Amino acid sequence: MSDNRYRVLSGMRPTGKLHVGHLKSVLEIWKKLQDEGHTCFFLVADLHALTTEWNDSKKIYENSTEMVSEWIAVGISPEKSAIFMQSQVPEHAELFTILGMITPLGLLERNPTYKEFVQEIGSEEKVANLGFFSYPVLQSADILLYKANKVPVGKDQIPHIEIARDLAEKFNRIFGEVFPLPEPLLAETPKILGSDGRKMSKSYNNAIYLSDNIKLIEEKVKIYMTDTARKTRKDPGEPERCPLFTLHKVFTPEEEKKHVELMCRTAGFGCLDCKKILLKNMVPEIEKIQDELKKTSREMVEDILEEGRKKAKEFASKTIEEVKALVFGRKNEKSKR
Ligand code: SF4
Repeated sequence: MSDNRYRVLSGMRPTGKLHVGHLKSVLEIWKKLQDEGHTCFFLVADLHALTTEWNDSKKIYENSTEMVSEWIAVGISPEKSAIFMQSQVPEHAELFTILGMITPLGLLERNPTYKEFVQEIGSEEKVANLGFFSYPVLQSADILLYKANKVPVGKDQIPHIEIARDLAEKFNRIFGEVFPLPEPLLAETPKILGSDGRKMSKSYNNAIYLSDNIKLIEEKVKIYMTDTARKTRKDPGEPERCPLFTLHKVFTPEEEKKHVELMCRTAGFGCLDCKKILLKNMVPEIEKIQDELKKTSREMVEDILEEGRKKAKEFASKTIEEVKALVFGRKNEKSKR
């Protein structure tokens, strides 16, 4: 790219409503990137959702529009970014097919995130299909189609970017230079744990959702797991062992967070007091998002997705023309960017 702006690609599987983990570890980073003026493509990964939700596929579209309305409520802007559905830009499937031809099976068999993902969705049988086995190739196609040079990810997803880099490098070597090698943009957000101490996830039923009513949020916080070594109010605790403290890390202002750590370690207050402080900081943020959510309609979201589809398609079709020109020796190469 000619200036200091990145071309960013990121996406989410539409598997249900969003929780505070999504807000703090993904959406706020997207917002920052778009507000800094980088060229951002944010996709609803509905084809990826199909790899696990194929037996209940009708809900994918519903989940997708719901999820996009939450993106908008959080501040992801259709004016600044291309927001679109993966399945509505067929070039993703086309590039996936071509990349599939140069993907060694061993690369997919060694995919280190496979086991973790199976554990999270809780069913190996559900993902015993070719689509799921080859999802890193589709993910690579998503990234390379937009010639993204930065992909915001958590540490655990770095292997996926490495697969995309391997495939880009191999394609460029065999057919000719098309793809920049994408790099991970490491998100510096702490891992957010759910109410049972495991990673916050819909599958574990341990999450606080952006759409939860405030009473429900208070109830969830009330029973949130804390430092289990702190048996009584008089025992000092350790915030780094406490799942609830992972929420303080992302919602509580720095000074107050230091105060919480001190009070916990010196048994200066009990976990109930600590939870009240968290609610005081977390609830207004969620209320603000919920107010925005009330302003978005299904029609509005569908219009946004259509506009985003056009923007994404314009870029993606040029890349595919370039790819086909090199792979098949076609002469109608339309663009060189
Ligand atoms: S005082 Fe707060 S940080 Fe310490 S264990 Fe209790 S809930 Fe966790």
